[in-house]
Amino acid sequence: MSSEPGASRGRSSGRGRGDSRGKGDSPGKAAGHRHGAASHGFDLPVLPEAVDIFDTTLRDGSQQEGLSLTVDDKLRVAEQLDHLGVAFIEGGWPGANHKDEEFFARAPAELRLSTATLVAFGSTRRAGVRAEDDEVLRQLVKANTEAVCIVAKASKLHVTEALRTTLDEALAMAADSVRFLREHDLRVFFDAEHFFDGYRDDPEFTLRVVRAAEEAGAEAIVLCDTNGGTLPHDVERIVAGVVADLECQIGVHFHNDSGCAVANSIAGVRAGATQVQGCVNGYGERTGNADLSAAIPNLSLKLNIRTIPPDRLERITPVSHHIAELVNIAPNPQQPYVGSAAFAHKAGLHTSAIARRRDAYEHVSPDAVGNGTRFVVSEMAGRSTLALKAQELGLELDSDALSGVLDTLKALEYRGYHFEVADGSLELLLRKATGWEPEYFEVESFRVINDHTDNIEDPRRHTTEATVRIRVDDTRVVATAEGNGPINALDSALRQAIGAHFPNLSAVHLVDYRVRVLDTGKGTAAVTRVLIDTSDGEHVWTTIGVSENIIEASWQALYDSIVYGLVHAERRVGGGSAS
Ligand SMILES: [Zn+2]
Repeated sequence: MSSEPGASRGRSSGRGRGDSRGKGDSPGKAAGHRHGAASHGFDLPVLPEAVDIFDTTLRDGSQQEGLSLTVDDKLRVAEQLDHLGVAFIEGGWPGANHKDEEFFARAPAELRLSTATLVAFGSTRRAGVRAEDDEVLRQLVKANTEAVCIVAKASKLHVTEALRTTLDEALAMAADSVRFLREHDLRVFFDAEHFFDGYRDDPEFTLRVVRAAEEAGAEAIVLCDTNGGTLPHDVERIVAGVVADLECQIGVHFHNDSGCAVANSIAGVRAGATQVQGCVNGYGERTGNADLSAAIPNLSLKLNIRTIPPDRLERITPVSHHIAELVNIAPNPQQPYVGSAAFAHKAGLHTSAIARRRDAYEHVSPDAVGNGTRFVVSEMAGRSTLALKAQELGLELDSDALSGVLDTLKALEYRGYHFEVADGSLELLLRKATGWEPEYFEVESFRVINDHTDNIEDPRRHTTEATVRIRVDDTRVVATAEGNGPINALDSALRQAIGAHFPNLSAVHLVDYRVRVLDTGKGTAAVTRVLIDTSDGEHVWTTIGVSENIIEASWQALYDSIVYGLVHAERRVGGGSAS
C-alpha cells in the first residue's frame, strides 16, 4: 500500500471551495467558467476544483439485503477504500450495535489509513434529553475518531409525524448535538435527512435546520435524498440555493430509487457541493446508494474535478471487485466503468474498425479506470474477432490455428456451450490452440456419492462425498472430501489432492455457480449448462461445462476454473501480468 499524502482531506478542499466558486460575484465575473444557462432561472457556481469522496459502505451500504459483514470484513473493506484514496470512510454506528463498537475499538491499532479519515456515525440527541446525557452522542465521542457524522430530521413532516416533537425542539436537537460534539473537538458532518423532500414541502424549515447546524459549528452540511426519488434538475436548483445560503461545505447523499443517484451526485457538485457520499459498487438498502465507482470517474475524467488522488483512479476496478469479494456479492458485469462488460465489444462486422480506433467506440480509455477492452467471442464471431481476442491475451495464433479454434468453437456452441459468458474457458481454448496443454495435474477419475435420509431429526440428512483420483508430480493421489453439495465436495477433494503442490490456489475460490437447463422439452434428459465464477481476490473469471449430466457439466467448469487460476497465479509469480 503506497502512502502519498492525503490528497483530498476534507478541510482543505472544503475551505478551497469558497475561493474557487467566487461566491457573491455576479454571473460571468468568477475566475472559472460559470455554467448553467439563465433559462434555469438560477446560476450555477464555478465547478469546484476538488470534492471529498465520503464512502459509507460500512454504514449505509451494509443496509443492503443479504449484505452482512464481520468486524474483520469491515476492516478489510476500510483498507481497500483507503487504498483507493477516498477522503472519508464512515465506519458504522457505534451507538447502534456492538459490532460497530468493536470496529471502532480495533480500528486505531489495526487500520493504517494513509489517505482516509475514519468517521463514526450517529444521530442527534433524542427529544427532551440534554446532549451530554444522550447515549448515542456519548458513544460517538467514545468511538474516538477525528470526525463524526450525525443524522438529523430536516423535513417538517418527519419531525411532526416520525419524531412527534415540535419544530423548535428539532432545531434545538440539531444545534445542541453539533455543539456538544464540537466541544469534544470533533469534526462534525451533519446529514440532513429527507432534505430534498422536506425542501419541496417547506423550504423555510429545512433551511432553518441546516443553518442551526452550521451556526453550531458543523464543518459540512450533507443534503440527503433519503427516499431517493429526486431528479437531477431539482437537485441542481435546490443545492444551488443552499450553497448560496450557507458558508460551510455542502455535501450530497443520494439513494438510487429513481435510478439517478450518480446523476444527482454530479448535479449536486455542479451546483456547488464539495462532498459526495456514496458506496463503492452502489451498495445500500432498496436500490442502493450512489455508486462511487461511477461517480468518481465521472467527476475526475469528465468534469476534471479532483476526487481521489489522480494516480489512483486506475485502482477503482480492482478495488470495486475486491470489495465485492469481501461483501460476498457477485459483481455486476454491466456496472459502468468497472464491470467486466463495461468495455466488452461483441464486435461482429465492426471488429476491425474497433481494433483500429478504440476511442471511437469507448467513452473513456478503460486503462484510466484499471479496466480493459474485451472482445466478446461467440459462434457469430468471425476470424478477426478471434484474432483480436488472442491478441488481447498475448497469444500468437497462425491462420490454421485460428481456423481450427473457430471450428471447435462453433461445434461446442452447437452443443450448448456459450463462450461469450465464459471468458475463462475461452482463454483456455485459445491457449490450447497454440499447442499448450495444462500439465499441472492429470485426472484419472472422480466420483460423487450423495446420501439422503428422510429422518428429519438426523443432522446429517444430506451428505455429499467426492473422491478424486489424480496424478500430480508423478505421484498418484486419491483424495476424498465432504461438502454441502456435489460441487463443493468435488472442489474440496480436488484442492485436497493438489493444494500442497500449488499453494497459490489458496487465494482462488468459487464465488458463484449457475445452472441452466437448455432443452426444457426433454425434461430431465435435457442438456445442462453450468457456469462457475471464480475469483483470486482481484479478478473474476467464468468457466463453463455442458452435459446431460449436471455433475459432469459442473466438473468441466470446475476443472477449467482451477486450471485458469493456476495459469494466472503462475504468470503473476513469474512477473507476467494476469489479464
Ligand atoms: Zn442514506
